[in-house]
Amino acid sequence: MRFEYRRRRRGRESRPSGCPERVDASGARAYPLRLGAAHTERDVMKSRWDDKHATETIERYGERGIAEDLALRVYTTRLLGSNPRLVLHGGGNTSVKSRTRDVTGEEVDVLYVKGSGWDMGTIEPAGLPAVQLGPLLGLAALESLSDEEMVNVQRRNLLDATAPNPSVETLLHAWVPHRFIDHTHADAALVLTDQPDGEALCRDVFGDRLAIVPYIMPGFALAKKAKEVAEAHPEAEGLVLLKHGVFTFGDTAREAYERMIELVTLAEERIESDRSRAFASIDTTAADTAPHEIAPIIRGLLANPGDGAFEEPQRFVLEHRTSPEILAYLTHPELARYSQVGTVTPDHAIRTKPWPVVLPTPTRDDLGGWSAASRSAVDSYRRAYEAYFARHNPRHDGAKRMLDTSPRVALVPGVGLFASGRDATGACAAADLAETTIAVVSAAEEMSRFESISEADLFDIEYWSLEQAKLAGARERPLARHVVAITGGAGAIGRATALAFREAGAEIALLDLGGGDLDRAEHELESVGFACDVTSDESVREGFAGDVSRFGGLDIVVSNAGAAWQGAMADVADETLRASFELNFFAHQRVAREAVRIMRLQGTGGSLLFNVSKQSVSPGRDFGPYGLPKTAALGLVRQYAIEHGRDDIRSNGINADRIRSGVLTEEMVTARSAARGVSEDDYMSGNLLGREVLASDVGQAFVALALARATTGAILTVDGGNIAAALR
Ligand SMILES: [Zn+2]
Repeated sequence: MRFEYRRRRRGRESRPSGCPERVDASGARAYPLRLGAAHTERDVMKSRWDDKHATETIERYGERGIAEDLALRVYTTRLLGSNPRLVLHGGGNTSVKSRTRDVTGEEVDVLYVKGSGWDMGTIEPAGLPAVQLGPLLGLAALESLSDEEMVNVQRRNLLDATAPNPSVETLLHAWVPHRFIDHTHADAALVLTDQPDGEALCRDVFGDRLAIVPYIMPGFALAKKAKEVAEAHPEAEGLVLLKHGVFTFGDTAREAYERMIELVTLAEERIESDRSRAFASIDTTAADTAPHEIAPIIRGLLANPGDGAFEEPQRFVLEHRTSPEILAYLTHPELARYSQVGTVTPDHAIRTKPWPVVLPTPTRDDLGGWSAASRSAVDSYRRAYEAYFARHNPRHDGAKRMLDTSPRVALVPGVGLFASGRDATGACAAADLAETTIAVVSAAEEMSRFESISEADLFDIEYWSLEQAKLAGARERPLARHVVAITGGAGAIGRATALAFREAGAEIALLDLGGGDLDRAEHELESVGFACDVTSDESVREGFAGDVSRFGGLDIVVSNAGAAWQGAMADVADETLRASFELNFFAHQRVAREAVRIMRLQGTGGSLLFNVSKQSVSPGRDFGPYGLPKTAALGLVRQYAIEHGRDDIRSNGINADRIRSGVLTEEMVTARSAARGVSEDDYMSGNLLGREVLASDVGQAFVALALARATTGAILTVDGGNIAAALR
C-alpha cells in the first residue's frame, strides 16, 4: 500500500524543501539513487526547458503584471529546484537584473534575487524580491562589510519592505555583470571539488568555461573574490566555487539554465568514467535487527537530557533511510575516516553538524550490549563536540554560545542512517543531506579521497550568526518534538484529538483498522496512519512499529479506541461481555504495554492517556457491558501511574460524556432524547454549563493532560458538568 504524505505549510522560514513526498506502508521512503543511476524522470540530468511551458508561464504571470524576465526567472528556478541532484534544502539561488518602476513611476534598476526561505522548486515571483541595484553596486568599493551590515543594506534597498531577506549570496549576484545567474550546490560539482586535487580536476573537466574561485565563506568576502575572478575571465560561462557549488551566467534564462545542465553533465560524465566502483562491489549484509527495534534507543541517546525536575528532555524526531549505496558506505573499512572529515558543502553543517556519530552494528541477541556501546559512542561524540567548540570559540573572542551537543545523524552499519530534526520535516531534510553526503563522499573516494573544508571553516559556518538566526525561527509550540500515537484515530474523537495535538506542535500517527475511514482521516488530517486492530497483540506491535519506523519513537499515546455494548447484566450473553472487555479493557492494556516498552527504550519518559468513560464512575442501567470494562480501565490508569512514575511515564484518563461519535451515534441521540421527552439540543446540552460537549473538547483535554507535567493517576472529566458523575 502506498499513500501520499503531505504536510501543512508551517510558514516559509521553517519549511525545508525537496523532501520526498511518498512513503510506503512500512514508513520507508522510496528515494532515487543518486549519481549515475537516474531512476526517475525528474532525476535525469537533461534540460527540461519547454517552449510551450515557458510561454504559458509568461502569459500566466503577465496577467498579474509580472514582467517577462521575472516570469522566466521563476520558470527556470523551478526547473533547477525540482532536481535534487542540483538543489536541496536551500542549497542554491538565482537572480535576474531588470528594470521596474517604483511607487513614483520612476524607472529603477533592480536585482530580482531569491529570497530566504523560499523553495526553488515551487518558487513564485514573491520569492524573488526586487533589490535596488545601484546601492548594491556601490558597496563593491568597501574593503569589508559585516554580515549584519550586509543584510541591513540589502533589506533597506528592497522595493517591498515586507519581502523576505534577499539571499546571503545577493552581492555576488549583483556584482557579476551577467543578466541571468543560476547557482546550485550540484552533487557532481561537489564530488570534483571535494578532493585534494579538485582544482586541477575542474580545470581539466570545465576548461575555460568555468573560472575557479577558492573556498571562502559566503558573504561580502566571497562576493568580492567572485567579482574579481569573473572580471579576470570575461568569457567564462560561470564560476566553480571550490567545495561549495557552481554559478552559471546567461543573457537569457534559458542560456544560464542550460549551461548549468551542460556543465554539471560534464562533471557527472567525468565521475562516471573515473570512479573505481569500489563501493558498488562491497558485499553488504543487513543486520538481523530492524530499524524500528533500535530507533527508540537511538532517539533516547540523541535527546538532550532535561534536569529531571523543571526542564523536559530536548527530543528529536528521527528519519531512517537505507539503500544498497548507504549500506555499502557504512560497510567500507574506512568509514571511520571518511565519515568524520566534514560536510560536502558548507551549509550542510547547519542541519547535520560537521560530522555524524557512528554506532556499532546491532545484533538482536544482544541489544543491551549494543545499547551500552552506543551510549558510550554518543557520549564521546558530545565530548568531542565540546572540545571542537572550545578550540574555535576563542577565534570569535568567546562570543559564540555552544549549541546542544547531540549528533544530527547516526550511522549504523548494517541498518542505515538515522537523521534527526525538531520535527519530521526537519528530520527529512537532514536525512536528504546525509544521503547526498554519502553519494558525494562515495564518488570522491572512488576517484581519489574525500576532502572537506577545514574544521575552522566548518565551525564558522555552523556558528554563522545569519544561519543560526534562520534556524532559531519562531518559538516552538508546547508539544513540538513530541510524537503522539492515537488509537481509534479515524473516529470522531480520534480525529479531533489529532487536530488538537497537531496544533500543539506534535507529530501524529493515527492507528485504526485499515480501510476507507483511515485513508480518509489521513487525507483530511494530512497525517500518517497505520492499520492497527487493538484487539490483537500482533497488530498492536505492528501498528506501533509503523509509528516508530516513521518518527523514531513515541512520547504520548492516546488509547482511545472503544465501542459500546448494551444489555442488562442478568440477560447479557457471555460472548457480548467478553467482546466488550476485549476492546474496552484488554485493548487499553495491550496498547499501554507496548507504549511503555517503547518509552522505556527511549528513557525520556512519556504520557499514557486513556479514554475512559462516565460509565466507569456513574453506571447507567443496561450499560454494564460497556461500563464494567471501563471501570477496569480506570483502575488500569492508576495502576500504570503507580508502576511507571519512576520512569517519568505519566498515566491519566478522560471521562467524557455525551459526545457525538461512533459510541453515541445520531440515531442514539434521536432515540434517547425522544425517550426523555426533550429535544435533541436539550438532551445534548443537559449539563451544568448548558452546552453540547464536542469531540474537540475531548481533544483539548487530552492535550492539557499531556502538558500537565506533575499530574499522574488523574481522571479529567469532560462532560459539561454532571455532579452525579463527578469523581470527587
Ligand atoms: Zn551557495
